[in-house]
Formats: sequence, structure tokens, C-alpha cells
Amino acid sequence: MKKEALLYEGKAKQLFKTDDPKVVWVEYLNQATALNGAKKDQIAGKGELNNQITSLIFSYLHEVGIDNHFIKQLSETEQLIRSVEIIPLEVVVRNVAAGSFAKRLAITEGTPLKFPIVEFYFKNDALDDPMITEDHIKVLDIATAEEIETLRQMALDVNEALKKLFTEIKIKLVDFKLEFGRTETGEILLADEVSPDTCRLWDLTTNDHLDKDIYRRDLGDIIPVYQEVYNRLNQRKGA
Ligand code: UDP
Repeated sequence: MKKEALLYEGKAKQLFKTDDPKVVWVEYLNQATALNGAKKDQIAGKGELNNQITSLIFSYLHEVGIDNHFIKQLSETEQLIRSVEIIPLEVVVRNVAAGSFAKRLAITEGTPLKFPIVEFYFKNDALDDPMITEDHIKVLDIATAEEIETLRQMALDVNEALKKLFTEIKIKLVDFKLEFGRTETGEILLADEVSPDTCRLWDLTTNDHLDKDIYRRDLGDIIPVYQEVYNRLNQRKGA
């Protein structure tokens, strides 16, 4: 497989074409951002950890039957993925009140929710990724009613699979964000990444943050906590 021209540069990853039109080459970067890019830093080792964590999680999701774009990890910072057209939605699943949900509805962070909830945000930096309803998604032709139902169900399936995985390694899955894409035949695959950048992960016994809130809230260095998540996942894999 040959790495070819740069296709897209995001905040945390670069995507390159390959000699196979169905395959994309991803390079994870060390850049951390928050507040829609207003806070930005280079953090050595971050790209490597997120690539490794995402690779382990996507492999696990394949094992439990959740279709995703991951093909294989190539190196510490690189992986190959299926080429998809990203649906411009951030699909958030929440098990416990935190972040924007806790703030908007004045619910104490850490309050468990009666059942997992799914929220949709329109991926649009200029608009600051506003929350949107299913009717908005349909009226804007972002996705069809049938696709929205697939996204909801896949997001809930990912939640069940990840809750089980993280419970095994003594981590509470508070909430997370997913992105999905369409293949050339219109099949919907889970895409992007699943890492401490995109999930809220709390230590099951201490409730310590093991995720990007360390960076967002200036609580310290993210590398040791991302490393801790990776070590726990990796030990489980070896078990
Ligand atoms: N999230 C993300 N990217 C975003 C916004 C949110 O990965 O652009 C993740 C975030 O890490 C958390 C979940 O989605 O796990 C819910 O985030 P929330 O809506 O509470 O927003 P925040 O408090 O991060 O602004």
C-alpha cells in the first residue's frame, strides 16, 4: 500500500490517499485542541496514544460485530481505514451527566442517567457545532430518517459494547462522541476515532478523569492518563 497525496488535515489527524481508492492512510498528530480550536497545544506522545487506543477499540468493536472503518494499525501513529464520506454529525451518547449536558440543564456532574441518551450535533465549526434535532437533520438533508435510526441504534450498540469493555478495566464510560460515514454503496460505518479525546472516562473507584477534560479544564498533563487508559486496555487484550 502506497501513501499518496494529503486528502484532509483535521485538528488531530491527517488523511492521505493511497493507491487503493477504497483505502485511506491516517496519521495521528500530537495537536490537542479545545473550545472549537481556540485552545491549541502540541503534546508529544498524544498522537501515538490515540492511534493505539483507537486501534484497540475499533478492533474490539469489529469482534463484537459493529461495522467500522478500521482496517489495521500500520505504526505507532498511523493506521489504514476504509474510505467513507463522513456524515457531518457528532453523535453523542451519555450514561452520566457531565460537560455541556450537566451545564445546560443544571444537573450535578456525575449524576447517573435513567437510560443512555443520544444527541446529535451538526459538525460545523463556523456555527460552533450546534445541537440539532432529528427533524433538523432531515430538513437539511444531512441524513434520511432511516439513516438517523441506524445512527441511533449503532451508537447505542457501541455504548453497550464499550460499557462492557471499560467496566472490565475499572473505568466508567460517562459519555462519548461518534462520527459515521457512508461507503460508496451507502453502507454506514462507524468512523473517526474513539479515544480519551472523544470519551469521558472516569476511574471506577476514584472518579478521576482519564480523558481530555484534563486538558480542557487545565487539570494537568494528559499523557500519563492516556497512557493509563492504553495500559489497562492492552493488559486486558493480553489477558
Ligand atoms: N466531544 C468530542 N468532540 C466535540 C465535542 C464533544 O469528542 O467536539 C465528546 C466529549 O469528549 C464528551 C462528549 O463528546 O465525551 C460530550 O461532550 P459535551 O457535549 O459534554 O461537550 P463539552 O463539555 O466537551 O464541550
